[in-house]
Amino acid sequence: MSISSNLAEILDKINTAAEKTGRSPDRIRLVAVSKTKPATMIEDALAAGQSLFGENYVQEFAAKAKEIRSTVEWHFIGHLQTNKVKYIAGLTAMIHSVDRLSLAEEINRQWAKIGEICEILIQVNVSGEATKSGTTYKEAINLVKEVSLLKNLRICGLMTMPPFFDDPDGARPYFSGLRILSKEIESLNIPNVSMKELSMGMSGDFEVAIEEGATLVRVGSAIFGGR
Ligand SMILES: *Cc1c(COP(=O)(O)O)cnc(C)c1O
Repeated sequence: MSISSNLAEILDKINTAAEKTGRSPDRIRLVAVSKTKPATMIEDALAAGQSLFGENYVQEFAAKAKEIRSTVEWHFIGHLQTNKVKYIAGLTAMIHSVDRLSLAEEINRQWAKIGEICEILIQVNVSGEATKSGTTYKEAINLVKEVSLLKNLRICGLMTMPPFFDDPDGARPYFSGLRILSKEIESLNIPNVSMKELSMGMSGDFEVAIEEGATLVRVGSAIFGGR
C-alpha cells in the first residue's frame, strides 16, 4: 500500500465514523504521526494533500523540520523533557503532551523569548496506569487552572493515550472519560482556557475515538507502515 492510498482510506474511515455519530467531519483533523520515518515519506504524504504532522522526539523533529521546506503544521505529541523545550520553540504549532506545571512554565518561558503564543493540550492519564505519562484525572483541573495563568500559552483542550486493547472498543471508556472531563473543565469558564480540542485515537482505535468526540486523531503506522 502507498502512503497516498493509506491516507485516502483513513480519511474515508474518519468520515464514516463521524457520520455514524452525526458529527461533522470538518471538526476532525488527522495528525499524521511521522516519528522514526524519513523526511521523504513526509514529502510523499504532503504530495497527497496531508499537511499536519505529529512528531515525538526532539532531536529528530528539529532535524526534519529544518529539512522540509514546504508549509507544514507540526504538532509535538511525545513525552517532553523540560531541558529540551528550547530546541522546539517556534517549530511547533501545538504541544499535545503537557502533563506538569514545570513543563508548562518552561514552554511559556521559551515562547515568551520569541514573542509567540504556544497552543497546548493537557495530557491526562485517564486509566491511571503507572507506566503512562499524563496528569491524573483528579489533578487535571488544578493543573489547567495553574497553566491558564501563563501568558504565552493557550490551553486548547485535552489529550490522552488509553491502555492497549486488542479490541478497540476496550478504549472507549477512556475516550468518553476524557470527553466528560473536558466538559467539566469547560463549565468552569476559566479565562484563557478553551476545550475545543480532544486529541485521542491512534491507528488501532481512531474510529472509536471519533465516536467519542475526538477532534485530533494521531495516526502513524496505518499511514507510514510499522515502526
Ligand atoms: C506513536 C504515537 C501515535 C501513533 O501511533 P500508531 O499506533 O502508529 O498510529 C499516536 N500518539 C502518540 C502519542 C504516539 O507516540
